[in-house]
Amino acid sequence: MANQYSFHKIEQKWQKRWKESKIHSPDLTDTARKYYALTMFSYPSGDKLHIGHWYNYGPADTYARFMKMKGYNVFQPQGFDAFGLPAENYAIHHKVHPAVSTEKNIATMKKQLDSIGAMYDWQNEIRTCTPEYYKWTQWLFLTLYKMGLAYQKTAPVNWCPSCGTVLANEQVKDGVCDRCKEQVTKKEFTQWFFKITNYAEELLQKLDDLDWPEKTKHMQKNWIGKSVGANIIFNIKGSNDKIEIFTTRSDTIYGATYMVLAPEHSLLKTISTPENVELVHSYIESAKAKTEIERMSLDKDKTGVFTGAFAINPISNVEIPIWVADYVVSSYGTGAIMAVPSGDERDFEFAKAFNLPIIEVVSPNGELHGNDECFSNYGISVNSGEYSGKSTENVQQLINTKLDEMGCGGAKIQYKLHDWLISRQRYWGTPIPIIHCTDCGIVPVDMNSLPVLLPEDIKISSTYGDELSPLATSDSYMNVKCTKCGEDAKRDADTMDTFVCSSWYYLRYPNAKYDDGPFDPEGLKWLPVDSYIGGAEHATMHLLYARFITKALRDGGYLNFDEPFTKLYHQGTITKDGAKMSKSRGNTVSPDEFIENYGSDTFRAYLMFMGPFDEGGDWNDQGITGIDRFLKKVWRFCQLPDTDDSPSKKDLQILHQTIRSVSDDLEHMKFNTAISRLMEFINYFSIHKAVSKDIKLTIIKLIAPLTPHIAEELWEINGGETSVFLELFPEYDKSLAEEDTVTIAVQINGKLRGSVEVSKEIEKEALLIEVKKNENVNIHLSGKEIIKEIVVPQRLVNFVVK
Ligand SMILES: [Zn+2]
Ligand SMILES: [Zn+2]
Repeated sequence: MANQYSFHKIEQKWQKRWKESKIHSPDLTDTARKYYALTMFSYPSGDKLHIGHWYNYGPADTYARFMKMKGYNVFQPQGFDAFGLPAENYAIHHKVHPAVSTEKNIATMKKQLDSIGAMYDWQNEIRTCTPEYYKWTQWLFLTLYKMGLAYQKTAPVNWCPSCGTVLANEQVKDGVCDRCKEQVTKKEFTQWFFKITNYAEELLQKLDDLDWPEKTKHMQKNWIGKSVGANIIFNIKGSNDKIEIFTTRSDTIYGATYMVLAPEHSLLKTISTPENVELVHSYIESAKAKTEIERMSLDKDKTGVFTGAFAINPISNVEIPIWVADYVVSSYGTGAIMAVPSGDERDFEFAKAFNLPIIEVVSPNGELHGNDECFSNYGISVNSGEYSGKSTENVQQLINTKLDEMGCGGAKIQYKLHDWLISRQRYWGTPIPIIHCTDCGIVPVDMNSLPVLLPEDIKISSTYGDELSPLATSDSYMNVKCTKCGEDAKRDADTMDTFVCSSWYYLRYPNAKYDDGPFDPEGLKWLPVDSYIGGAEHATMHLLYARFITKALRDGGYLNFDEPFTKLYHQGTITKDGAKMSKSRGNTVSPDEFIENYGSDTFRAYLMFMGPFDEGGDWNDQGITGIDRFLKKVWRFCQLPDTDDSPSKKDLQILHQTIRSVSDDLEHMKFNTAISRLMEFINYFSIHKAVSKDIKLTIIKLIAPLTPHIAEELWEINGGETSVFLELFPEYDKSLAEEDTVTIAVQINGKLRGSVEVSKEIEKEALLIEVKKNENVNIHLSGKEIIKEIVVPQRLVNFVVK
C-alpha cells in the first residue's frame, strides 16, 4: 500500500538536496548544447512574491526543466532589479534606508523563490544595487558617452508634482503619472539622454526576424513610429522667418488652406501681428493647462486663434493664414502643420468651425465630388495645377523632387521615437559618473576609478524641494576636484533611470562575479538569450532599451550579435472573480497560504492548468482541489505493484499518444493541455491493479517539469539513484501511438446513413459484412436491391441501391 503524499516533507527534502548537489548550476564552459532560459527579474519593492511572480516563474521553470530533459545544458539565472522608485518609496513608507529594506526584501523573496522549486543558478545571482554591479552600469554610461550616444540637453520634461520627480514619456499614461495617477506638468531641466533614435531604423527592421509575440512587435513598431513623407519649408510673408513642417502627404499641398503652429512654437512671438498678439498670448497660456491627450483627442471642440501672419505655399505660391491651435503638439514633428481640410478629419473640423476654405485635391476616380466630407486615401490629384490628373503617389514623388530642387525641403523619413531620458532626481539609483567643472565643462569620471559610490549620508524623503536631487544635499558627495584641471568641481546630482540597470543585466549572468569588465567574454557564448519570459507591460520600455543597448555595445565592439532575446513569451494575467487582483479591491490571492495547504507542486500545476499561459485565467479557491486530487492519483499510480506482464496494445497506444501530446504541448508552452492529457492518462489507468515499471517511470518523467518535487520523490521510490532531471524526456514511438482502428462512413445512394469503427487492416469482404450490421444502415438497405458496392479503403462505403 502506498504511503501518504506528504508534500511538505518531500518539497523541503528536494529543495535541500538540489541546493547541496548544485544540480542547478550548469557547467558554463559547455556551450555546445547551451540553452539560456531567462525570466525578467523582479523588483524587491514589496516584501513578498505575489501571484503574478509565481505565474511568471513557475511555468517558466517548467519550460526550463523540460529543455534540460530534452538534453540541453540549461542555464536559468535569477536576480533582483533592486534600484528604483518602488524600492525607494517602500523605504520612505517604512522609514528605513532603502539599502536595508531592499536587502531584507531580497532575503524574503529568495526564500519564496526557492519554494517555487525552480532550477535557479544562485551562484550567478545579480543585484543591480550593489557597487559590484552598478560599477558596470556606470561603465555602460561612460562607454555610450564616449561613443557620442549619451548627451545632455535642456528640454521640457514630464514632472510629477506628487512623486517629485521627472518621468520618462513611457511612465506617463494619458497625461497622468503611471505610478501615482497625479496630473503630470512640464518643467525645464538639463538632463542626460541616450541616443536611442540613432537606432530607430534598425530597431524597426530587425523586429521581423524575432520570434516574439506579434502584438509586442506591433507595439514596438508603433512606438518607433516611422513615417515616410516630406519636410516642406514655407516662407512667411514680409518676414525672414520660415516655417518647417513634416507631412506624409506632400501631394495634397494644393489643398493647404491654412497653417497651424503648436502653442509652444517659438515663432509665435515674432510673427504674430500687433493686432493679434494679445489674443495669441492668452491662447498660449490657456493651452498650458491641457494635456497632450486632451489636446489631440478627435471628439473635442477645436479651438484656435489667427496670428495675423501669412505663409507662402512654395509650390502654388498661394498665401495662406497662419493660426495657433492646440490640436497640434510640439513633441511630434516640428510643432507645425500645413492644414489640408479636404484630406484630414481634424483639419476638416477646424476649417468648418472657423470658416476656412476647403479645397478638394484628391479624388478616388479623378472626378470632383465637392467638399461635404474629407477623403484621406490615395487617388487621382485634382485642383492641383500641372499635377492634376496624375496618381497621388506619382504627384508625391514629383513634388518632393521639386521641393528639393527649390531648396524648400524634400523627401524625409521621420520617427516618433524620442531619445531616452535617463536622468532621475531620486536617491536609490546608479550615480551618474560625471563631474561638472566651471572651466572644463562636462568631465567623465575615469573608468579606472569606478564605481562612483552612492553616498549614504542622505536623508531619504519623498521630496527635496522643487528641483533638487537628493544627492545634491550631500556635500561630501557633490564636492570633488576636477580630474582635468584639479580645481573645485561638482558631481552630477542625478541617478540613472532603473531601466538602464536592466538594459544589460542578461549579459552579466553567465559569470556574474566577473570583475575585469561588465561581462565575461567567455560567458558571452551563452548569448543571445534563448527564451525570455516576462510581462507584456515591458513591450515598449525594457524590451526596446535592451535591444538598443545590445546594438550600441555591438557597434562599440563589445558584442558580436544584434539582438538580445531570440524568443520572447509573455505570461497572461491571473484574475479573481473576473477582475484584476488589487489590494484595494480586496481580491488578492496569497500564494503562501495555498502552498501551506497544498504544496508548491500543486500550486504551480494549478496556475498552469487555469488557462493558456499567454492568456492567464480566473483564480478559483476550489479549483486547486482538482489538481490536488490529480497529484494524489499520480502518487498512488506510481506506487502500484510492478507487473511483468507486457502491457496491452491499447495501454501502449495511450502511453505513446500521451508522450506525443505532452512533449508537443510543453514545447509550445501549452501547459494547461499537457496537464489535461496527463489527467486523461491517469484516469484511463485507474482501473489497473498493477502496472509495468516502464510505464511508471515514463509517467514520472512526463510530470517532472510540471511538478518537480513529487517527481523526484517518485523517481527515488521507483529505484532512481540520481535526479530524474538527469534523465532524458521520453520519446514516443510513432507506430505504437498510431490508432489501429478507423471510422468508416457508410452511405446509401450518396447519403450518410451511419459510421462504423473497424480495424485498419480489415479485408474488403469482412468490412462489407461489418457495415451492414449497423442498425440504421440495415434499415435503409432492407427491401432494396444493391446494384453496386463502392469501397474507399479506410474511409467510406457507398451502396448504390434501387
Ligand atoms: Zn507620480
Ligand atoms: Zn576642470
